[in-house]
Amino acid sequence: MARGLTDVLSVLLWRRGNLSGQSSLAQEHCLVCDASLVESTLYQQARVCPQCRFHYSITAHERIQLLADPKTFKEKFRTISSIDPLAFTGKITYRSHLYNTQRNTGLTEAAVVGQCKIEGISIVVVALDFSFLGGSMGLVVGEKVALACELASKKRVPLIAIVTSGGARLQEGALSLMQMAKTATAVNALHRKGLPYIAVFANPTTGQSFASFANMADVLLAEPGALMGFAPLRILQEMADQPLPVDSHTAESHLKHGMLDAVVDREELRGTLASLMRRLVPAKTRVRLLRPRGREQKPKGTITAWEAVQRSRHPERPTARDYISRVFGGFVEIHGDRLNADDTSIVCGVGDLYGASVMVIAQQRTPRPAGEPQGPYIGPDGFRKAQRAMNMAVKFGIPLITLIDSAGPAQTLEAEEGGLGHAIATTIATMANLPVPTVAVILSEGGRESGLALSIADRILMLEGAIYAPVSPEAAASVLFRDDSRAADAAEALRLTAMDGLEMKIIDTVVPEPEGGAHTDPDASAYTLERALVRAVVRVQGVTVGRLLNRRHKRFRNKGEYTTYYQRFLTREVETLEGYEVEGEKGKKSKKDKKEEKAPKEETKLIMFPGVSEDAEDAETVSQEDEGAPQDTTP
Ligand SMILES: [Zn+2]
Repeated sequence: MARGLTDVLSVLLWRRGNLSGQSSLAQEHCLVCDASLVESTLYQQARVCPQCRFHYSITAHERIQLLADPKTFKEKFRTISSIDPLAFTGKITYRSHLYNTQRNTGLTEAAVVGQCKIEGISIVVVALDFSFLGGSMGLVVGEKVALACELASKKRVPLIAIVTSGGARLQEGALSLMQMAKTATAVNALHRKGLPYIAVFANPTTGQSFASFANMADVLLAEPGALMGFAPLRILQEMADQPLPVDSHTAESHLKHGMLDAVVDREELRGTLASLMRRLVPAKTRVRLLRPRGREQKPKGTITAWEAVQRSRHPERPTARDYISRVFGGFVEIHGDRLNADDTSIVCGVGDLYGASVMVIAQQRTPRPAGEPQGPYIGPDGFRKAQRAMNMAVKFGIPLITLIDSAGPAQTLEAEEGGLGHAIATTIATMANLPVPTVAVILSEGGRESGLALSIADRILMLEGAIYAPVSPEAAASVLFRDDSRAADAAEALRLTAMDGLEMKIIDTVVPEPEGGAHTDPDASAYTLERALVRAVVRVQGVTVGRLLNRRHKRFRNKGEYTTYYQRFLTREVETLEGYEVEGEKGKKSKKDKKEEKAPKEETKLIMFPGVSEDAEDAETVSQEDEGAPQDTTP
């Protein structure tokens, strides 16, 4: 690297790219579909064909210009350029090659770094330019990427990398290869600061950049139709026995195989990036929620087990996506497990809960023919995608909220071969160890291994009409009574309602539904859930990581032990024989958390008097944290 005469000259010759500039030559007709481009505003503004949506290549400066707020871009490290470290001579010397490229492109190197704002959010951007020696990563590109990471760390702002790059910079030999390690180390340092890093792949992105800093971003986006992958398409074709499928090696194919979060049109990129960063910048990830005003809502009556089964299966019952759109503002979805596929039955993304950023992992029910249980049946890709989202919540230190509604894991050979058991086990282990507050909500169908894997949380809420059981009532009836038609009896025996879950201490809170069920008024149901969620997050936010994990560990370590519930169960049997019912546990949960940490004891307190059953109003109790939590006093 040097700032020699050549560099100074090329800086002087540098011409700011614009979409009518020389670098991205304007076509009169689309090369793909032959549509006329002369009159197209979209083509003039963004170099996208209005008919076939083909995204033409543009320069690094043009890409930045399309993203940045007007007049906010300030280029950094512009004068750093290569010095031909190997004194390389091919057809022509590397020095002459560089000089010619600099003169033709107006760039000093293939990377442009700078600071700008996108919708008012300050960022550092590094954009590669394919027109400069194929965007190959030599010493200077590696250095500029590392400097961009360091600048973002220093300024505590997000980093956006726009990548379009070929392979190695041959003329710099092994030094070029080392840039993979240099940039990877720099990105690691950025991750440690908890700052967002988003990469955008443009056509084409292959080779060293793709296999190092670019693929290390928190969120990976790509332009439609972008050719991408580690190996160049030509090599793949040479190695293949038969012609490759048309869509192989494209952004769309990578999305399908779980390698990308989204394919985003050039026109929508600015908005998508802004939404993502707005959720992930430190100003948002550090917001502490206040407890909503007013009393916590509680179920007004009780519903029978069979009623709950019917409510949970009602075809119009709101799904996870219905709640996400109503409860979490500015939700941005992420996709893929970065291994194999994108399981659509798991929805992950960041959203805004009352002004605080949260990570959401939801199980999305899919409608099935009448009589069949509803999906989703979650495969290993879905569990791995969930783990990715969990790790992202940890990086940004934001609460994790899981919405549970699943008929079970996918029981297919394909799922087994994909490592279903391992994926479930590691999801349970990951969630149990998350050093951020976690809240799980059982929306319709909980239980099963798939539901359990996402409910190892600090607080577990359950909608009034949801059910929590290891098997369906029909399956239970066929085992218990050898008669499927006795599902209602089996449902009663399984004790699968929310109130049962509360009594068994499987859940913490029952979230009431509008009269008749959540499907009668999805807006009201979402509003109640939103408030319950805020209360739940308030209870666990701000707790030290050690204490959080300790509590979570104890909570799940003690499940199914010889507990108060078990003792009460035995007592109930005796009392039933004597014609009595049991009343216990009333208000006993308060101050429990503190007691539990000193000496986890399971003492039975039984208050017995005839003819009284437990009242839902009193079943939910208030914890220590709740009482001490700051309350929202805004109207
Ligand atoms: Zn076209």
